[in-house]
Amino acid sequence: MAHEEPDPMSGESLDWLEEQGSIADAVDEDQLEDAAAEAYLAADDEYVPMDDGTGFLLVGGAEGGSIVSALPSGSILAASSAAPAVTGRDEALSGRLPILLVHRGGRHGDLLPLVMGQLHHQYGRSMAVGTVANLPAVKDEKLRSFFAQSSVASLRIADPQCYRLDGEVLRLEKEPIGKRAWEYAPYLASPEAADWEQRVLDAQRQVNASLLLTPGRALDPDDPQGSLDSMFQSADKALASMEQGERLALNVTIPSRWLTSEVLRNRLLDEILDQDHFDVLYVRTQWSQGKAFTPTEDAALLVGLKKLANLCQDEERSLLLPQTGLTGWFALAHGATGFGLGISGSDQCFAEYVFRRGRPGQLPAQRYFERQMLHTVDRASHDVAKSIPGYTQCECAYCADLLRNEPWSHVLSALHHLYSMGALTAKVHDESARPGGRHAAVRRIVAAAKKWTSGLPLGTSDLPRHLAAWDQAL
Ligand SMILES: [Zn+2]
Repeated sequence: MAHEEPDPMSGESLDWLEEQGSIADAVDEDQLEDAAAEAYLAADDEYVPMDDGTGFLLVGGAEGGSIVSALPSGSILAASSAAPAVTGRDEALSGRLPILLVHRGGRHGDLLPLVMGQLHHQYGRSMAVGTVANLPAVKDEKLRSFFAQSSVASLRIADPQCYRLDGEVLRLEKEPIGKRAWEYAPYLASPEAADWEQRVLDAQRQVNASLLLTPGRALDPDDPQGSLDSMFQSADKALASMEQGERLALNVTIPSRWLTSEVLRNRLLDEILDQDHFDVLYVRTQWSQGKAFTPTEDAALLVGLKKLANLCQDEERSLLLPQTGLTGWFALAHGATGFGLGISGSDQCFAEYVFRRGRPGQLPAQRYFERQMLHTVDRASHDVAKSIPGYTQCECAYCADLLRNEPWSHVLSALHHLYSMGALTAKVHDESARPGGRHAAVRRIVAAAKKWTSGLPLGTSDLPRHLAAWDQAL
């Protein structure tokens, strides 16, 4: 597998692979990872027919995730059921189904189209799959082929990440725009240009994004009106240059204060309410995260997310919450349309950057997402949990290999996490036919997790402390 560009954004220190290590320390580990990943990609090509007769979806092999119109000669038709038709962009944005956005972060992007294909095959009747790739992190050509292979993605988003210019508002690492980012995203060098919005949009068009984003510079909580004004000015310029068939989302980047402070929040929500010509919102919130893969338990932030999602639901706007992981899933209860997560820790949370010095030779944490607990735990805690009566063993294809083989594969564990989040997202839809809709569906899943987890003999760092706060917020 081709080595990926390291994601220069904040969060390397919160990465799946090296919570406290440097990139250099992880080289050997990466090679191990690649062995597991490559074995996965080397599996035979396997096709399933599409429900609507439009072709065949490849659910195994290196080209997995693509849809072909005719079955290549000699190819294998899987014994499993047909795949549902792909939900179109506009239908997905209508919110009929919750949307799971798969982030193509800095690592193992080659695996994601296959995983999306499998997610769609399994859960595509109950959720829509979308994907987000970061323009400053990958060459255009590579991004185009990634999008082309992601045939099941209802939304293809090429995130311009212009907030990398806003180190004074956000907590980013020292040099948020590295050498490659300047090269891959040349528009970052010209934010003062009169046609800047055009350049940012064109960069997304170049790679065949299906939902375009406004630049999304970070809103400064110390200059609320000024930054809101300039955001909408820039967004209006972008909107004015939309071409036939294109859709645009208002891209909003905020430090969490905008949601936790009532005054700021009201200001932001009032403005969103007024600017009703933006019917899709893509909101990225930065908050401080103590431990990788831990969703927020901050009651004020949960209230803020709820108010934002409620507003969007009431006003029939589509709210996408990129880079939020389990926290974004929680927001489905309150009216969010979709949320995003990926393989790395930084893909689950747009965390405030904190420098952590790695210790040479330190092995990366072995983590496992427990669906029943709605929580990611250390492997040792997984071993404890699975011995408890009532534990449900995950039956995903990744776990079959992950739990049987040594060494522990961080990649397979990450894919299990993605897949489990697909299952949880689909469940929200499946249960929403019952009274209370999605809200009650999430509440039931959270309550069940809280109940099952209480009394488990786990270390304090592995307890899902967010569940109590979530239960309150629901
Ligand atoms: Zn699994």
